[in-house]
Amino acid sequence: MKCDYYSTQYTVYSKQNTVKKEEVEMNLKKLIRDVPDFPKQGIIFKDITPLLGDAKGFKASINNMAKKYKDKHIDKIVSMEARGFIFGSALAMKLNCGFVPLRKKGKLPYKTIKEEYQLEYGTDVIEIHEDAIKPNDQVLIVDDVLATGGTAKAVCSLIEKLGGKIVGICFLIELSFLNPYDKLKGYEITSLIKY
Ligand code: AMP
Repeated sequence: MKCDYYSTQYTVYSKQNTVKKEEVEMNLKKLIRDVPDFPKQGIIFKDITPLLGDAKGFKASINNMAKKYKDKHIDKIVSMEARGFIFGSALAMKLNCGFVPLRKKGKLPYKTIKEEYQLEYGTDVIEIHEDAIKPNDQVLIVDDVLATGGTAKAVCSLIEKLGGKIVGICFLIELSFLNPYDKLKGYEITSLIKY
């Protein structure tokens, strides 16, 4: 086995390899930049652009996400605009599955169904094409950051309305201190980096 922190051969989720999983997390964490007070006062924004700009780091993120789901027969990856698209589409290539973009209101050209969800202040709406998911499609949701879980919950609702089966929800980063799992009970959640 290669002894590279970013090795694609790492079994990062294996119980026997917890130390290595921590090493992968530690190395990916070095590529996440904290930006205080963005986009507003009091928020510490997790900037993923240093990771995206690092060939090894970006590849390691996708490879380690893929490990967990490579044998789960995923039909579709569903991601939210805009940063979710980066990880979701790269992972879809790796898992040989389709990619479904979810967008803010009014952006998708064909017939859509929509879901309103709670933001810190106010609400927002996301949409999906009504034919994007077929009944019983095995679906993996992918996004960059899990914060309160409100967005992911709305995505789950849209997929289930179309008859899709949610195999899991996968994030690069999870802000555990915001207790996002409270909103996502019953779903299998994976995050490569936890704060
Ligand atoms: P939430 O619905 O609260 O889980 O928020 C998730 C969405 O907001 C994700 O699509 C993230 O891209 C974005 N987000 C929330 N908090 C942060 C943060 N501190 N840093 C970066 N992105 C964030």
